[in-house]
Amino acid sequence: MILENTDSKMYNILQNEIRREDETLELIASENFVSNSVLEMAGGVMTNKYAEGYPGKRYYGGCQHVDEAEILAQDRAKSLFSATYANVQPHSGSQANMAVLMTFLEIGDTVMGLDLAHGGHLTHGSPVNFSGQLFNFVSYHVHHDTGRVDFDEVWDLARKHKPKMIICGGSAYPRFIEFEQFREVADEVNAFLMADIAHPAGLVATGLHPSPIPTCDVITTTTHKTLRGPRGGMIMMGEDKENPWGKVATKSGRVKRISELIDSMVMPGIQGGPLMHIIAAKAVAFGEALKPEFREYTRQIVDNAKCIAEEFLSRGYNLVSGGTDTHLVLIDLTENGITGKKAENSLEKVGITVNKNMVPFDQKSPFVTSGIRIGTPAVTTRGMKQDEMKTIVALIDKVVSSPDSEDLLSTVMSEVQDICKDFPLYKELIG
Ligand SMILES: *Cc1c(COP(=O)(O)O)cnc(C)c1O
Repeated sequence: MILENTDSKMYNILQNEIRREDETLELIASENFVSNSVLEMAGGVMTNKYAEGYPGKRYYGGCQHVDEAEILAQDRAKSLFSATYANVQPHSGSQANMAVLMTFLEIGDTVMGLDLAHGGHLTHGSPVNFSGQLFNFVSYHVHHDTGRVDFDEVWDLARKHKPKMIICGGSAYPRFIEFEQFREVADEVNAFLMADIAHPAGLVATGLHPSPIPTCDVITTTTHKTLRGPRGGMIMMGEDKENPWGKVATKSGRVKRISELIDSMVMPGIQGGPLMHIIAAKAVAFGEALKPEFREYTRQIVDNAKCIAEEFLSRGYNLVSGGTDTHLVLIDLTENGITGKKAENSLEKVGITVNKNMVPFDQKSPFVTSGIRIGTPAVTTRGMKQDEMKTIVALIDKVVSSPDSEDLLSTVMSEVQDICKDFPLYKELIG
């Protein structure tokens, strides 16, 4: 690597991160490992190019090649999700959400979203986020007994508050998002329905999770979670209509389409120059996701998560919603006598990376929490299957049961390293 000679300090930091990723078990549900092709594109020369605007309508010259890259990313996204519209420019999932909220709503409008502590995302109305500050969010929750969205409450809140938009989807919801049930509610109160599929996007792309395209008005996602692309966001629609808001018109008097308003909200509304290297890397990742192997991969992600869920259940653990349909499980550790924070820290010591997570009706603060969230996309990318999942659950169980036993932690750590050695990652990048 050239960096080794030009900036040894940063080179060492990078090498340490490559080794950490290779030598530990990554179970954070929102993380994944991109392919070397995606990595190459994300680290490539398109980072140099300013391309404010959209393909064919740029504010800068020299855009012929990045135009092709962006069109390829859009076309592949559309065929992957059966969408008719895709904007691949949002720098992140949060910015995709911001652009959609600001296109569909006026400041102060009422929106419904899943409570953060019940599996929602910061951008679904948290008071510390722009969403909660600019809009009047009303949170719905999961049901205490089932851990699934409480539709009785959703109906009540929708009828009472008449939201202009309902957001479905979340970051720690282990079950399929109930697009059709949300559609019925949205139709009755005449609200837009936005689906945020940041987490299950890869499963949606391969048909392992229901698709929001036929039911939801607008869809946002990240590209770096189960979709296994570079860090970024995207906005899609199944059907693009004339905008209903005072019929915003062009100079020639034509009524603008919703897609045109979303495009303008992304740029110049909330972003400047798009990250062309990342958009090109999205195109590469979408190309990978269109291949049959990607369906096998996502099938294995779900099989691995179901295996982990069964193993925890058989060991007497309490899982929110009693299991999973997707790539993640949420473990409620309240009855295990350990907090999410302590579990995360002890697991980190042995090389197992998870995140502490609020569980529904959590009595503890977000810095402590009563749960941990575990996801299988990253370990599945390394090639791990059910046998490894069983071993991983056994190791987590040991650590959670005796988090202060140094002897036990060091035995578990060497077992973690053995598993990792059998499934090498980014070997060619290690200096
Ligand atoms: C991860 C996530 C996002 C946003 O992701 P960033 O790219 O980190 O901004 C948005 N919504 C949901 C539901 C998510 O899980």
